[in-house]
Amino acid sequence: MIKAYPDAWYCSQVCGSRCCRVADVWTLPGEELSYDFWRANYPRPGKDTCGCLDERGLCRIHDGRRPLICSLFPYFKFEDAVLASLSCKYVREVVLPAISSHTVRDRLFQGILECIDCQCSAEETREIEQRLRECKGAFLLIRGNRG
Ligand code: SF4
Ligand code: SF4
Repeated sequence: MIKAYPDAWYCSQVCGSRCCRVADVWTLPGEELSYDFWRANYPRPGKDTCGCLDERGLCRIHDGRRPLICSLFPYFKFEDAVLASLSCKYVREVVLPAISSHTVRDRLFQGILECIDCQCSAEETREIEQRLRECKGAFLLIRGNRG
């Protein structure tokens, strides 16, 4: 059974930490972020890579107050489904081929929702859903039984 989330080795060594090398790391209104995040990223003229990414391709504030989007990515709750970002290599190359199996899909769906529910309040979930409606990214829609 595959894991829902890529591990640090996959992200840094296989993917090259791509999602930390984009300019727009979302933050939500009122979100508490660590001073290290703000210091590393603002002001950031002409900067694409998050300032918290270290030379090994790992997040320096992984265990601290990084943006919620960083903890959730590549999955977001959307109504009664999960949206998986197709900009994520792990989603495209590991998850997508595996979910043709109903058993795998249900297990992943359940595990992802449990993980999101642990981290996200109802209000944050609504705010993220709203942003997703305006987002031009491509997503894989995952629906399954919660068991
Ligand atoms: S805070 Fe960490 S996880 Fe978030 S974009 Fe920056 S390096 Fe990546
Ligand atoms: S895009 Fe996906 S595989 Fe790549 S670093 Fe981000 S979460 Fe990991």
